[in-house]
Amino acid sequence: MDAQSESRLKQLQHTYATYKQENLKLDMSRGKPSPEQLDLSNAMLDYPSSKDAMVTESGVDIRNYGGLDGLPEMKKLFADLLSVTTDEVIVGGNSSLTLMHDTIARALLHGVRGSNAPWGQQKVKFICPTPGYDRHFSICEHFGIEMIPVDMTDDGPDMAAVESLVAEDETIKGIWCVPKYSNPTGSVFSDEVIERLAKMETKAPDFRILWDNAYIVHYLTDRPATFNNIFTACEANGHSDRIFAFVSTSKISFAGAGIAALAASKENIDAIKKHLAMQTIGPDKINQVRHLHFFKDAEGVVQHMQKHADILKPKFDKVFEVFEEQLGGKDLATWSAPDGGYFISVDTLNDCAKEVVRLAKEAGVVLTNAGATFPYGKDPLDRNIRIAPSFPTVEELDKAMRVFCTCVELVSLQKQ
Ligand code: PMP
Repeated sequence: MDAQSESRLKQLQHTYATYKQENLKLDMSRGKPSPEQLDLSNAMLDYPSSKDAMVTESGVDIRNYGGLDGLPEMKKLFADLLSVTTDEVIVGGNSSLTLMHDTIARALLHGVRGSNAPWGQQKVKFICPTPGYDRHFSICEHFGIEMIPVDMTDDGPDMAAVESLVAEDETIKGIWCVPKYSNPTGSVFSDEVIERLAKMETKAPDFRILWDNAYIVHYLTDRPATFNNIFTACEANGHSDRIFAFVSTSKISFAGAGIAALAASKENIDAIKKHLAMQTIGPDKINQVRHLHFFKDAEGVVQHMQKHADILKPKFDKVFEVFEEQLGGKDLATWSAPDGGYFISVDTLNDCAKEVVRLAKEAGVVLTNAGATFPYGKDPLDRNIRIAPSFPTVEELDKAMRVFCTCVELVSLQKQ
């Protein structure tokens, strides 16, 4: 190490020691909405009261059993949001992750349309664009589904790799996709990627795209990303059963008490409903009415998201500002600059991420575990770190990101 680097290292060690003495307690490990964001929907809790009508215009008593696939009005809202028809939607409970988990569990037990046998009786593999969402990978691991990583680009998964894998291996039954403002890279799938996903020939007759549109309206700019409709693209290519799409209001209304939905071809939906009828007599219609009263329709949801953006944008900007100031021009890290979603994805130099996360934690800044964005928690280059700026205040973020940048530079220098 040259004298200049040695002196910089000493400086960084001193700064790091100072941070440690501050006894910081900042948790940025998950993409949780902040209390301020949750407050935006508090008015929802005033409805329905005991004085409000308990029977909807379509004649459903919201307090009673029934309505397996959701209130017609709620199906319409989600259908409009997802650009499908109402008979292509099932409204579920509060969590889209549950819908994803159960979709795979059903496929393992019973197969899906086009299956020769339940997936559980065969070897099953899934393509996992990486870096990706850790809970998708956990579902696969939990069910013994082998994960095949494929690089995530700015436009979506590396399609040449995806196409050649699915064309040759009939045990590959699915791919995880977060098409808009992807977790964690913020990538938005291009129309070309959508067309290729819809068109590609798969060796498995029952291949599925798990289209997790978790950030469908989660814009940070006033120029929202749009893309072609994957449902119509699949239909046009003779693969209308290929898509299982998921969405929820977790980061629109309340993360713990929102509403989730699943969309798929009418034939898929009819097949799923037969299984669902064994699992429930119907979802929580009172929460559906609450959401309908508050948002009115899909356009109401889009309008509401502007208020979230007003809170979130300064937080993302703060992260970029500190990164630029502390790491800009040093060639020690690159970071994504998403126009929406909940995350910023950082790549450090190779073999540094785990140590950066460990040092940050020791200084009181808890980040998502390094490796979490890869199947089995193993980032082969040990370089990707997911930053979740939504929960802390702008002031807390300023501090947390300074600690983070110090750790990045410190670890990079120590590895030299
Ligand atoms: N999918 C993605 C890509 C997510 O980032 C999250 C939340 N972090 C979820 C699903 C969870 O959704 P839900 O709250 O509807 O279960």
